[in-house]
Amino acid sequence: MKFCSQCGASVTYRMAPDEDRERHVCDACDTVHYINPKVIVGCLPTVGEKILMCKRAIEPRYGKWTLPAGFMENGETSADGAARETLEEAAAIATNMSLYRIFDVPHISQVYLFYRCGIENDEFGIGPESLESALFSEEEIPWDELAFPTVRELLREFLQDRQVGEYPVRNTVIEYPRR
Ligand SMILES: [Zn+2]
Repeated sequence: MKFCSQCGASVTYRMAPDEDRERHVCDACDTVHYINPKVIVGCLPTVGEKILMCKRAIEPRYGKWTLPAGFMENGETSADGAARETLEEAAAIATNMSLYRIFDVPHISQVYLFYRCGIENDEFGIGPESLESALFSEEEIPWDELAFPTVRELLREFLQDRQVGEYPVRNTVIEYPRR
């Protein structure tokens, strides 16, 4: 952040008055601008034994495979946001949504909430942010072509849970980017 949204003066990253950490503080009006972690919401949709994934048509990671997910919008619930992303990216209507995984990624100040779900009538397509959508069996997952470490971790844990037949909600911390 470079300029104050209140007065337009320049902003400096420095210790804020009465705070215990550095913040973006306006040099002119002393307004403290809080920049907090972003929430990413998404789905792990399955059709029978197969997992629905999308090939990204946008940067970052253009052309890599991912699960439908994106930044939560103001005024929506996390489940609504995950369903919205599934509709936008895979043209699929999420059903039977169940919170499954919380990822903390502190080095990039992000929190991910993923839901397991089915899709209505097993129908899906291609949204504007995707090059293609496809169903993958466990053997078909393109491990070397996945977009994000969170997606890799989620798929790995899901396949383990599926062998046991139980899907407990877990909070996983991803400490550093894994490729
Ligand atoms: Zn200001």
